[in-house]
Amino acid sequence: MKKRIAVLPGDGIGPEVIKGALQVLDGVATRFGHEFETIEQVFGGAAIDQEGNPLPDSTLKTCNDSDAVLLGAVGGPKWDQGKVRPEQGLLALRKAMNVFANVRPVHVYPGLEHLSPLKSNKVKGADFVFVRELTGGIYFSEPKERNEKRAVDTMSYTREEITRIVEKAYELASSRRRKVTSVDKANVLETSKLWREVVEDVAKKYPNIETEHLLVDYAAMRMISNPTSFDVVVTENMFGDILSDEASVLTGSLGMMPSASLSENGPGLYEPIHGSAPDIAGSGKANPIGMILSVAMMLRHSFQLEKEAEAVELAVFETLQAGYRTGDIYGGSGTLVSTKEMVNQIHFRM
Ligand code: ATP
Ligand code: MG
Repeated sequence: MKKRIAVLPGDGIGPEVIKGALQVLDGVATRFGHEFETIEQVFGGAAIDQEGNPLPDSTLKTCNDSDAVLLGAVGGPKWDQGKVRPEQGLLALRKAMNVFANVRPVHVYPGLEHLSPLKSNKVKGADFVFVRELTGGIYFSEPKERNEKRAVDTMSYTREEITRIVEKAYELASSRRRKVTSVDKANVLETSKLWREVVEDVAKKYPNIETEHLLVDYAAMRMISNPTSFDVVVTENMFGDILSDEASVLTGSLGMMPSASLSENGPGLYEPIHGSAPDIAGSGKANPIGMILSVAMMLRHSFQLEKEAEAVELAVFETLQAGYRTGDIYGGSGTLVSTKEMVNQIHFRM
């Protein structure tokens, strides 16, 4: 099968990890006999430098005309004081692609438990997925106002917006351990009361899936005290923003974590959760695994290539088992390698 992929390297370590991702994708193409057409476009700070716009029209058009989008990272101190910022390009891209569902796996790999702040047995094998609503809620609802004396934010959700994200969570749970944890604040928020109602409605269609409701404050505690109790966690935008950052600490390094942002029918957007890490850009220290696992998510969610996705994940797993470590996951034992060497080791195991 032939697929078209828009590739946006972006800034900082973005281009370095994208290069690794494309090498691994090439390994998938060779092994499984697929053809992937990749089209590279400028985005973020690089695009501001070149065109004065973090999301040039040609970049957006390529994204919309593709089957999926692979993104490195955007931003950096160079653009922090500017009138236009790279991050505006990312928000505009998400909005234009209508990617309302942000999916973030949290997977603690064997051999990396010692990097987790918990280090307890309970973390062993923690493996769950966040499904965060990405385009609504308090970050985007109107009115948003302020004057000298008062500031207002608004949290609003429609039944339709909640239904589509909750459906995604149940679909995902069907192919996993069949449990959905819905996180809300239904004891005080009207949006959360509606959220809970919708979850109950959707749950009726999935009798084989266990459903639980947690208040967000309790969920924040349980993520630390009992992280293996989760399978799929579905929640609104702001709760998901906060909780998924909390959970990322469990895995030992930001550099390990992939993400997918999905729309109803259009292309998905795949990127590691880390930023542009300007402090290590160009030094060969970047961990490419979050980006490479994002390729696995693309294969699975946009192309329905499950075997191929598992092959990438297995190659990552085996490379870690063999002891290869970039600096961010090096705990004093194993073989310390550069970005390039880590990519070669993973590619070699494909
Ligand atoms: P952003 O504002 O874009 O989210 P940030 O400054 O919050 O960026 P990151 O750029 O993600 O955060 O990184 C924070 C630090 O974590 C970096 O400075 C870097 O040292 C480390 N880091 C992040 N990603 C990686 C990676 N892939 N490999 C190794 N170290 C990383
Ligand atoms: Mg950050």
